[in-house]
Amino acid sequence: MCHLLGITPAPNNGTWSTVSDMLVNWNSPNGDANGAMDLNGIILTNLGVHCENHGFVGNYMYDIKHKEKFLIWRNKPTIYNTYWWEDAEPVWITAMKQGKRAYMYRWCGCEVMIEGRNATYCKKYVSLPPISELGTDIDDAIRELKSNNADLVALYAEMSDFVGHSYGPNSKEIENVIVGFDKQFQHLMTSLATEGLADDVNVIIVSDHGMAEVSPSRVINLTTDINMNDVDEILDSGSVVNIWPKQGKVDKVYQDLKRMKHPHLQVFKKQEIPERWHLKRHYRTPPIFLVADVGWYIATHPSLIHFKVNFGVRPFANVHVYQLMCHLLGIKPAPNNGTWSTVSSMLTSIY
Ligand SMILES: [Zn+2]
Repeated sequence: MCHLLGITPAPNNGTWSTVSDMLVNWNSPNGDANGAMDLNGIILTNLGVHCENHGFVGNYMYDIKHKEKFLIWRNKPTIYNTYWWEDAEPVWITAMKQGKRAYMYRWCGCEVMIEGRNATYCKKYVSLPPISELGTDIDDAIRELKSNNADLVALYAEMSDFVGHSYGPNSKEIENVIVGFDKQFQHLMTSLATEGLADDVNVIIVSDHGMAEVSPSRVINLTTDINMNDVDEILDSGSVVNIWPKQGKVDKVYQDLKRMKHPHLQVFKKQEIPERWHLKRHYRTPPIFLVADVGWYIATHPSLIHFKVNFGVRPFANVHVYQLMCHLLGIKPAPNNGTWSTVSSMLTSIY
């Protein structure tokens, strides 16, 4: 990106020879170790350094120095604290330091002041704008490029990630989203041509992570094999899990996990994490890191409850709904007049 912008890159882990002929070769998403790192994939592309250097070691992180958690977009304003963001320099900051103007649309982190700077323009990230909004952002971005206001434009669209997570990578729903995005990409390329920008604007399209289908029959239940009283923090679930044991309990939790001998679970102490994942050297990397085999799901809560599919029950009074809601939320109900057996048959637990 720096080469295309004509700016000097900040220190990074990229190799020029890898991309110098990439325009006719291939590239791949980031985080080969970790299919769950949305932020890693989105941000790393803009940083040019590995996660052990930029410090976004997961979507859900615990920062032991600052005693704070980063829960992807859920615990604002803590996530805007600059220490999360300043271990490496995003390309829009590098560009601005060298006199370029950066227009960022829904791009995670553009609203954060980094090295005392904000992007020239930042349309803040919000959760799940409709695909049609990408079209609006494309139109705005092309207007800024045409007016020679912008040197760098970045657009982020989240719907494929959300729908992929919700319905699976082989679902009809994700197919519909991909068709929707294809139309927007077509709109982008057509608009660039119509506005006479096709020869002036370089377009780079990146993804953040891959996905695999999971199944209720491929769940690794951690809660029955480790004592949660030994653990300070256990964050994330799915393909990877981060564990911060209590002081003096790292070996015990590690041994408990090893004793599971689960054939589809890899258990690493921080120092054992493979070099090629470029993950183990940051202070935020957890003392214990778990990775599931592709297609397996690591569960860190007592149960994953959902409604049975295509299952009907006889009509019942709304007074029973309260218990159902409390159960789904994992909270203890206050005294009430509902009857648990009236609603419990509607639910299934995946283990
Ligand atoms: Zn994702």
